[in-house]
Amino acid sequence: MTTRKSLDPLDLYDVGSLLSEEERMVRDSVARLVDERVLPVIRKHFEDHTFPRELVGELAALGLLGSSLDGYGCAGLNAVSYGLICQELERGDSGIRSFVSVQSSLCMYPIHAFGSEAQRQKYLPRMATGELIGCFGLTEPHGGSDPGNMKTHAKRKGGDWVLNGAKMWITNAPIADLAVVWAQAEDGIRGFIVERGTKGFEAPEIERKFSLRASSTGAIFLQDVVVPEENVSGE
Ligand SMILES: Cc1cc2nc3c(=O)[nH]c(=O)nc-3n(C[C@H](O)[C@H](O)[C@H](O)COP(=O)(O)OP(=O)(O)OC[C@H]3O[C@@H](n4cnc5c(N)ncnc54)[C@H](O)[C@@H]3O)c2cc1C
Repeated sequence: MTTRKSLDPLDLYDVGSLLSEEERMVRDSVARLVDERVLPVIRKHFEDHTFPRELVGELAALGLLGSSLDGYGCAGLNAVSYGLICQELERGDSGIRSFVSVQSSLCMYPIHAFGSEAQRQKYLPRMATGELIGCFGLTEPHGGSDPGNMKTHAKRKGGDWVLNGAKMWITNAPIADLAVVWAQAEDGIRGFIVERGTKGFEAPEIERKFSLRASSTGAIFLQDVVVPEENVSGE
């Protein structure tokens, strides 16, 4: 049995000693970023209800966007490292962690796992560098995040799809360049990649939040939005 010299009040189960050298390195470099770059500015962003967009490049430079994905400019770290990244970012502010986890797990991951090769090539490398920001639209104003109650629908029109509906409480929506939107099609729920600037797509900010004030949260309105077949999720 090993005994420890001192007890860390933030790690009573001594989980830190189980980490590999690489995991510790990841944790410590994110901790440094949080101490040096997030904590000095986050109070002001919380008070002003603004997202610190100036940090996106630095998060990307550390490999934190899509960190657990392989290829396409992503870091290919393991799941423990991703957990440590989120834990450290959350220590800085939940809004920063939300930005990274929505970009990585809710937007890049579905493109990586279910998208076509062309979609992966088109979006993932630029999302890993933070050049493109993504959001994920599941939750709706009336039925919350229960997919069984989804009213947003997609209808085929020639070779394209036409989307109508609304999403609510969507992290990153007001600043996103693309949205992975879930909609009810005739054969079940499908994922659609909708790019900012597409006619009929709007993503206004939800203002005066009590919490997560340094996170950009929005609604998504889809009115006769035409999405080409090549932007539909494979599965
Ligand atoms: C700041 C913010 C950011 C968000 N970002 C996103 C995003 O990026 N993309 C997105 O799609 N969504 C997003 N959401 C939505 C979020 O995912 C949902 O609000 C959340 O999943 C809860 O779902 P709901 O609103 O449908 O609540 P519900 O699931 O309806 O739950 C409401 C309450 O009812 C309880 N409840 C639910 N069902 C039952 C049951 N059968 N029996 C007993 N109790 C029950 C729950 O425990 C909860 O307390 C965001 C929300 C917020 C506030």
